[in-house]
Amino acid sequence: MGKLYLVPTPIGNLEDMTLRAIKVLKEVDVVLAEDTRTSGKLLKHFEINTPLQSHHMHNEHKQLDGLVQKMKEGSIYALISDAGTPAISDPGFLLTRACVENDIEVECLPGPTAFVPALVNSGLPNDRFVFEGFLPIKKGRQTRLLELAEETRTMVFYESPHKLIKTLTHFAEYFGEDRAISVSRELTKLYEETVRGTLAEVLEHFNKKAPKGEFVIVVGGKKS
Ligand code: SAM
Repeated sequence: MGKLYLVPTPIGNLEDMTLRAIKVLKEVDVVLAEDTRTSGKLLKHFEINTPLQSHHMHNEHKQLDGLVQKMKEGSIYALISDAGTPAISDPGFLLTRACVENDIEVECLPGPTAFVPALVNSGLPNDRFVFEGFLPIKKGRQTRLLELAEETRTMVFYESPHKLIKTLTHFAEYFGEDRAISVSRELTKLYEETVRGTLAEVLEHFNKKAPKGEFVIVVGGKKS
């Protein structure tokens, strides 16, 4: 029986690559990558010469049976995404589920992911929290926002720079302008920054200073 490793890769700072991630990527038969060009550069940097195969949201369904068959025959694969932990708002869930259903061993290495440092940096309660990833863009967005308005745990969202202001405006509308929020941008990178305050204050900040880079939004829960 083969095996599937899920291997986190840096979300900006290459020094966050773990020693074990390098070792596993060197030892497996094939590295499955969301974008072989992006991952090719990373592998080259760490002198990893393992063959790369593309595995992304447009071909992952089609590849499942073939990959499962190869693992049943003994192949060992590692899955990486462009940045962070595979399957966290990235491809990986379908392949993991297929392995589990076929009794193929799966091991996810611990490592970089954007939501953990953003949550901890926020200073908002983190004993219980919900990870929401990207909000639906159109269909289902209002329903989700209405549900989340009642959520008492801290909530964590991913967002792109060009939708940040729209999303913060929706949060102010559905959760109230006084709700506590923390926005972390460019984590682990040169221009890393965390802006904390009420939704009204943080919106004012980004209305003055246009959002640039990658963002994680952390919103305090409704006071119970
Ligand atoms: N798999 C990744 C993880 O483990 O965090 C997430 C991939 S998802 C496609 C990309 C989103 O993650 C970005 O839009 C942003 O919300 C967040 N993200 C990734 N890197 C980040 C960084 N360095 N700083 C802030 N947010 C980041």
